[in-house]
Amino acid sequence: MRQSSLFAPTLREAPSEAEAASHRLLLRAGMIRQTAAGVYTYLPLAWRVLRKLEQIVREEMDRTGAQELRMPSLQPAELWQESGRYGAYGPELVRLRDRHDREFALGPTHEEVVTALVRDELHSYRQLPMTLYQIQTKFRDERRPRYGLLRGREFLMKDAYSFDTGWDGLGDTYRRMHEAYERIFRRCGVDVRAVEADAGAIGGEGGTHEFMALADIGEDTIATCSHCGYAANLEKAEARAAVPEKEEPEEGELEERKPEKKEPEEGKAAKPAPAAEKIHTPGSRTVEQLAEAAGARAQDIIKTIVALADGKAVAILVRGDHEVSEIKVRSRLGAASLELADPETVARLTGCPVGYLGPVGMKLPLLVDHAVAAMNLGIAGAGEPDWHLRNVRPGRDFPLDAVGDFRQAQAGDACPRCDEGSLRFYRGIEVGQIFKLGTKYSAKLNAVFTNPEGQVEPVLMGCYGIGVSRLLSAVAEQHHDEAGLIWPWAVAPFHVHVVPVSVRDEVQMAAAESLYRTLTDSGVEVLMDDREERPGVKFKDADLLGIPIRIVIGKQAGEGLVEYKERNQAESAVVTAEEAADRIQ
Ligand code: ATP
Ligand code: MG
Ligand code: MG
Ligand code: MG
Repeated sequence: MRQSSLFAPTLREAPSEAEAASHRLLLRAGMIRQTAAGVYTYLPLAWRVLRKLEQIVREEMDRTGAQELRMPSLQPAELWQESGRYGAYGPELVRLRDRHDREFALGPTHEEVVTALVRDELHSYRQLPMTLYQIQTKFRDERRPRYGLLRGREFLMKDAYSFDTGWDGLGDTYRRMHEAYERIFRRCGVDVRAVEADAGAIGGEGGTHEFMALADIGEDTIATCSHCGYAANLEKAEARAAVPEKEEPEEGELEERKPEKKEPEEGKAAKPAPAAEKIHTPGSRTVEQLAEAAGARAQDIIKTIVALADGKAVAILVRGDHEVSEIKVRSRLGAASLELADPETVARLTGCPVGYLGPVGMKLPLLVDHAVAAMNLGIAGAGEPDWHLRNVRPGRDFPLDAVGDFRQAQAGDACPRCDEGSLRFYRGIEVGQIFKLGTKYSAKLNAVFTNPEGQVEPVLMGCYGIGVSRLLSAVAEQHHDEAGLIWPWAVAPFHVHVVPVSVRDEVQMAAAESLYRTLTDSGVEVLMDDREERPGVKFKDADLLGIPIRIVIGKQAGEGLVEYKERNQAESAVVTAEEAADRIQ
């Protein structure tokens, strides 16, 4: 590509309202232009980057066995009414009417459409598992579109939907997607952390992870524990009254997840954590049984317990007659906590069999989370009446799966999960999210299949999103300097920028043309700055565009020499044109 004919109108200054570095630089590099608030045109350079991001996403999705399709953006309101989200989605849903006054929405996401599609074609377990995905423009009338492509009202998303016969299958699919996401972000050159998150408007029963690109401009706050490696999204930074001071991640700290060595208390040797054990506690009930007896959902019971408990608790105690009103909570007062008491002792002290025991000092909502997670995972004892577990260590005995209540926590607090490490906070950009939806949509929209025994069951679903246009901005947030963008090779709009200093100099131009042909013929994507501009303008623009390798052809062209420079390195080297080409190919 010759720069003289490239449509990339660069700017010396960015509009002052552009707060994020990525927004400023993408505008200045002539990559994006705003058409309306939160609505952008991707100019040719941005489109080249987006196509590469899409291709990486596509390859990794295909690698998991997912199949690409394309669903409509224009969606009938009836589908949204069926799922119950037509009202619930609120003003973010773009609504419109056709000429017959029928209501439609412009798709912000596609659970409804895909579930209805599969419902009509799904009969037997033999058709499962199956995962479908698309890469498509989405519409959300965001309250505050901002930061350029980071929060648009029209944006590009990859969304995938999985269909499985049971929770085990969904678990496998989810894990494969999680791994695919790690590969996608690594290939795009983005440093992400997978964190546990709230399910939000999408909902679902089975847990969710978000993939957060670390960046100061990020709107979310992530808490991480130095000891157990647990990481959670505390949601929008905006919504948090007391956002802790930003802390720089130390080199490799999050990566390695090295447990901090805890000094044993004076005179005491550090004891290894006791193993989990199953205890016979006749008369005790599961949370689910309690929920059933009370005609309430387990979550509502949990809410009641949380409201009852002040601070930290060591045990949820449940009376044998399993009336919900009889749930008792023993809260910890200061340091004088109940040790992980054996159930007999607790029963003697309180007259109640023990419902569930968790680690000392754990906050109650987490304790309940663990109990429920353990039951969902079918850990022996956790879901059985008359039996219970004690000394269960989350993370050791079962995966941490649900967001805990970190909202009261401050930097340096003990981790509410393991009670050993201390919490740190970072800012992040949510570039992707994966959900185990379970039967949330299939039950509502009646997407069922016949199992091998001939019974009809709702299909288990998962959904998996990546904000492709947001990802472009996240790459730019993580890869730039004062002078401009610094594209990672895999997603760069071009690989090599060939810059003849003077296009009127025949020797320079001949050398540039020759190098351009050699590289292009070997599959390297080359942009040649054949514009009649002052060298200063050309170099400034080259830094701004951020193409990974720059080859300047100047006065030494007659001796066959060129200047080779990588955009992310300060030094350049004078080498022969052949060597420059060899270094690249
Ligand atoms: P956010 O919390 O930032 O509003 P979300 O949780 O509402 O995002 P999801 O419903 O999880 O978004 O959508 C999947 C992905 O789509 C997100 O992880 C994000 O990368 C991207 N995305 C969501 N909203 C936008 C937006 N307004 N502009 C650009 N990308 C977006
Ligand atoms: Mg949102
Ligand atoms: Mg979110
Ligand atoms: Mg999300």
